[in-house]
Amino acid sequence: MPPKAHDIRITDVIAHPLTQRLPKPTVTSWGRYEQVSIVLVEVRTDAGITGVGETLARFAPRAYCNLIETALKPRLVGQPAGSIAAHWHALRRALSGRAGGMLIEAIAGVDIALWDIHGKAAGLPIATLLGGMGRSEIDVYAAAVNWGDDADMEAELAALLAQGFPRIKVKMARPVADACRRIELMRKRAGDDVELCVDANWAYGLDEAVEVGRALAANGYVWFEEPLEPENEQGYEELRRRCDVPLAAGESNFTVDQARRLVANRTLSVLQPDVARAGGITETRRMADFAHAHDVAYAPHVGMSGIVCETASVHLSAAAPNFRVMECEGDRSPFKTELADLAPGCLRQQGGRLDVPTGPGLGLTIDWDAVRRLRSPE
Ligand SMILES: [Mg+2]
Repeated sequence: MPPKAHDIRITDVIAHPLTQRLPKPTVTSWGRYEQVSIVLVEVRTDAGITGVGETLARFAPRAYCNLIETALKPRLVGQPAGSIAAHWHALRRALSGRAGGMLIEAIAGVDIALWDIHGKAAGLPIATLLGGMGRSEIDVYAAAVNWGDDADMEAELAALLAQGFPRIKVKMARPVADACRRIELMRKRAGDDVELCVDANWAYGLDEAVEVGRALAANGYVWFEEPLEPENEQGYEELRRRCDVPLAAGESNFTVDQARRLVANRTLSVLQPDVARAGGITETRRMADFAHAHDVAYAPHVGMSGIVCETASVHLSAAAPNFRVMECEGDRSPFKTELADLAPGCLRQQGGRLDVPTGPGLGLTIDWDAVRRLRSPE
């Protein structure tokens, strides 16, 4: 009989900075990414149970490790592992000021690890601890066709279709005339049966976004993701009034408060928090629940992240009544293929679906040799 989570005490918190070269550069309206980092957070306990979490730390991973080990760890060591919500609120006060930025991303790594411990102690998958919806698999969409010239985009679309994805995301940028032409081109090449959406990574001003949004609506795209800067809430509201394509955002939000306005007035149709940024499973669940209360769908963001973020997102997806579809990399990066051993058949995309792990906690076994191999350079 494993010990109960509330009897287990935290003995150590270790943050591992990891860096990988991407199998294929990611090109968005922001630029070109050849390599990215994450932080793997290990929480040890006196029961011999270790939990793992992931912090979104694309750049400067050692700065995140410093934050976790100097500001968060002293508030955790010696405390009961099972008091997850209490720890979230205590860690939130580890720095001063509004909730956001590196602090909430650092908390995400710790929080996911605590849920992993809770599940292992209970002998249950996190999806079940979250209430479960009885799902053994979830729908995913491919990310992504990168922004590039027409021929490159056509080739990338063909490669994702060949992998069997029935839903595909396309990156869009400026100039608007090129974007509108490529929106039509992608629809023509994909055919009418493939579900397409677009991610602009804040590429546009409002008037440009209206033009692109109308092209998306005319070509049957299911959502327009992050057309404007996340702080421009008034712009999102006006865009919603001026074009018919559903709007999606949320990967840039750290907490439920930052999603409040656009979810509560249903400017957004789809909320996309990233569990490794938005305070872990505890806060991401709050965001998904808040969205559900306003008839807004939950669609986890996991772009450029590792297997721990992806798996935590699968558990959240499996337990959320308003879950719609999860992001899934077409080109599996080393953070997803090397960092953990999966149960046979688990988490391999097939026909646009991923299995929900059935093992305790996250249901992952970390490969610590891979953690050493992928360690960020000094
Ligand atoms: Mg995005």
